[in-house]
Amino acid sequence: MSLTIPTVSGAQTARDVLAAAFPNGLGAFVDGRVQQGSGEPVTLTAAATGEAFASYNDPGTAGADAVLASAVDGAALWGAMNPFERAAILRNVSHVVAEHAEELAILESATTGKPIRDARTEAAKVAEMFGYYAGWADKVTGSTIPVPGEWLAYTQRVPWGVVVAVTPWNAPLFTAGWNSAAPLAAGNAVVVKPSEFTPASTVRLAQLAVEAGLPAGVFNVGVGLGATMGAAFTTDRRVGKVSFIGSVPTGRRVAVAAAQAGIPTVLELGGKSANIVFADADLDCAADGAVSAIFSGAGQSCVAGSRLLVQRSVYREFVDRVAEKAARLRVGDPLASNTEVGPIITAPQFATVTSLIGQGLDDGARRLTGAALPEELAAGPYSGGHWVLPTVLDGVTPANRLETTEVFGPVVGADAFDTEAEAIARANATSFGLAGAVWTANVTRAHHVAQSVKAGTFWINAYKTIHVAVPFGGFGDSGHGRSSGPGVLDEYTQTKAVWVPTQAAGAPFPSLSY
Ligand code: NAD
Repeated sequence: MSLTIPTVSGAQTARDVLAAAFPNGLGAFVDGRVQQGSGEPVTLTAAATGEAFASYNDPGTAGADAVLASAVDGAALWGAMNPFERAAILRNVSHVVAEHAEELAILESATTGKPIRDARTEAAKVAEMFGYYAGWADKVTGSTIPVPGEWLAYTQRVPWGVVVAVTPWNAPLFTAGWNSAAPLAAGNAVVVKPSEFTPASTVRLAQLAVEAGLPAGVFNVGVGLGATMGAAFTTDRRVGKVSFIGSVPTGRRVAVAAAQAGIPTVLELGGKSANIVFADADLDCAADGAVSAIFSGAGQSCVAGSRLLVQRSVYREFVDRVAEKAARLRVGDPLASNTEVGPIITAPQFATVTSLIGQGLDDGARRLTGAALPEELAAGPYSGGHWVLPTVLDGVTPANRLETTEVFGPVVGADAFDTEAEAIARANATSFGLAGAVWTANVTRAHHVAQSVKAGTFWINAYKTIHVAVPFGGFGDSGHGRSSGPGVLDEYTQTKAVWVPTQAAGAPFPSLSY
């Protein structure tokens, strides 16, 4: 299928793009086929206009049961396959996703409101994820372990069977690839449960994977509600492991429910990351970094640099520069190739972001940018869209609720600090620990700050670079477990230890005590 970029985003465009991708309608992807549910209708809304463009029916717990039954068969088939065959298939998935990257990007942008240039980057990264883990699929090894006595002891890595990946709405395609390529490489079947708001690109990804040679049932997608499908998937004993990307409250609920069913979890949750700028930094570079840290993805990014801490001697000049750059960002039609900031993806999140800006102002912050929508968004086809302009709030002190509350929108709170120790203490004064950055020309300071801030990912004179080859995950409320890098193959397999006596036949049996 080839799609061309329509000129205007909105309900009609989203409807057309979705219909081209799924002529028979959207539904769960089970056993290599899209299957419609028959439960509660779920309406999809175009973020740029606020209009409904499609609906599907939640398949409910019966639908979840069918998805899991298929995945159990898929896991048996895939797990028994030679790892070299699995590697070849995953390599082909990477090629097919790369060939369809533009189609996936258009589907993602039209159905979520994500700017097309970001969607293109993310589609290319999904191809890269499958390529990277294809390389690992035939290198999942155990070890031989020296032990006392006449024994051979060795380990094997055994797939869990069915891995469920629950994903959020802010980066549906990216997170679907991020949390499926590795478990597949480790020999598991995956069931992805995308956000009910943004399921389309995940279903298309799974379809492409099957077209590329992945056996039916090995990559299923449960399109439905969190409370029905999500809850069923994460508490069913046929599931070996759950990876969850989303908010802290839902993540905790999922982890507790899964634990009660004896299912281990990997959690990637929210953040409130500090971006620390010292007076000796390259301030031009740091200002560009601070803008992209918070405003790319309209701030709907778990690693967003939502707290800007700037050394007092350059604070005023630096924050004003960030505000000027923020005001110049091109906000608008997600499908226009020069759009830098799109709308808030879901209506509930739009309400949350606007309410949190109000709280930040009530608590004493001053708004430097982002007050009034421009004419082209305030009137006409986009007037019903979920628009929040890039917003720089000056003077977000520790007493402000925005200091510790994740906004998950294009809102940065800035404040001044005096000393390195103060900056570190401030960065660590949240329950989160996902990411952070420091900008300075002083190498010793850079590494000291990097080691002192509690975060799973930290950048020096940079922001937001992540790659599938490098471990990613959080400290504290930002989650546990890692979802990328080679070590994640351990997350998606269990260790089996095998013992065999090596003494000659007829010799006394070696003693073993425990
Ligand atoms: P959410 O927690 O509301 O939903 C996440 C997913 O959980 C959705 O698919 C939803 O349907 C599902 N779900 C809801 N209830 C469930 C239940 N009872 N059982 C099982 N599944 C259930 O999160 P969201 O609003 O979609 O995403 C935004 C949040 O995600 C933000 O807090 C953001 O920081 C976080 N996030 C984190 C990362 C990361 O890597 N750390 C990446 C992206 C987003």
